[in-house]
Amino acid sequence: MTDRERMEKGKALLDLLEERHSLSREEWHFLLENRDGELAGEVCSRAAALRDRIYGKKVFVRGLIEFTNYCRCDCRYCGIRRSNKNASRYRLTPEQIMSCCEAGYDLGFRTFVLQGGEDPYFTDQRMVELIRAIKGEFPDCALTLSIGERPRESYAAFRQAGADRYLLRHETANEEHYRLLHPEEQTLKNRMECLKNLKELGYQTGAGCMVGSPGQTADCLIDDLEYLTRLQPEMVGMGPFIPHHDTPFRDYPSGSVELTLYLLGLVRLLLPSVLLPATTALGTAAEGGRELGVKAGANVVMPNLSPENVREKYLLYDNKIHTGREAAECLEDLKKSMAAIGYEVVVDRGDFIPC
Ligand code: SAH
Repeated sequence: MTDRERMEKGKALLDLLEERHSLSREEWHFLLENRDGELAGEVCSRAAALRDRIYGKKVFVRGLIEFTNYCRCDCRYCGIRRSNKNASRYRLTPEQIMSCCEAGYDLGFRTFVLQGGEDPYFTDQRMVELIRAIKGEFPDCALTLSIGERPRESYAAFRQAGADRYLLRHETANEEHYRLLHPEEQTLKNRMECLKNLKELGYQTGAGCMVGSPGQTADCLIDDLEYLTRLQPEMVGMGPFIPHHDTPFRDYPSGSVELTLYLLGLVRLLLPSVLLPATTALGTAAEGGRELGVKAGANVVMPNLSPENVREKYLLYDNKIHTGREAAECLEDLKKSMAAIGYEVVVDRGDFIPC
């Protein structure tokens, strides 16, 4: 096949993807294996145009509160895994969490994301109290949880208490790859069961994976794309893998920024109205990474609202960006850098638009 023919075929597959919102394995393979600057440019511009059509030139902000880095899990890629004895552990009090929300609210944030390790201290009871307190004080805000795997009844109780959204990346939809990334006791089956429960309980649900995690092949990525096609999540979190020096994956290279951007674009074309963050990991892996993410079809950014003194402790990977700047200053910077590429940072709830 000549370069020209490859490009033509690539474009035809993108037409098909935009029309049918699914592709066969073979078609995904072609798109993944023939990525070059030109095809990537095509994916990017189509994805950005589609996002603009649905959401306008808007980027939604979510205030991220990393409220505990205690974790009972031992994911091999993650810096806060329980085996990392060098991690300095912290957990915020309900009062501290409420004051993060207050500060965020005053800055205009209307979505808060409570993210943490799987910390047994935060029992269902404690979570329910926290959710009630936040939703009671900020009824006009959306509340997103990202606290890992729990039984269906717990998710039901959180939903009942007022939680609106839940982020739980599936991490990889390939069984063998899942086993490489996680210890025996964590299973893909359970992860997927959790996601199914979250959807059924009426959460706006976010799945997703890292790009370039150790052992990831094109086939794994196609499994991810096929899983996303089946699940139809309202949100997808996708960022490059970045090694952490105190994990078994310390010597592996970071995931490719270009491949991450390409996949963000493909996910936008696959799930047109998905809420798609330009992740912190993307911003860490490349200067201006989050802006590149928006240009490739992302429409969400999640600035950190955690207190200054704990931010450096929620280290999932090395060199995670924490500028030492206040949330207010970060928001100002973000508004400027997004304005520079033609996007407006908006602070409303930014709910999923079904189409
Ligand atoms: N305990 C919660 C929150 C996990 S942290 C949960 O299990 O859902 C949020 C995400 O950070 C994870 O889902 C993972 O995909 C990502 N992450 C963890 N370690 C990473 C690393 N080394 N590089 C890039 N992303 C990482």
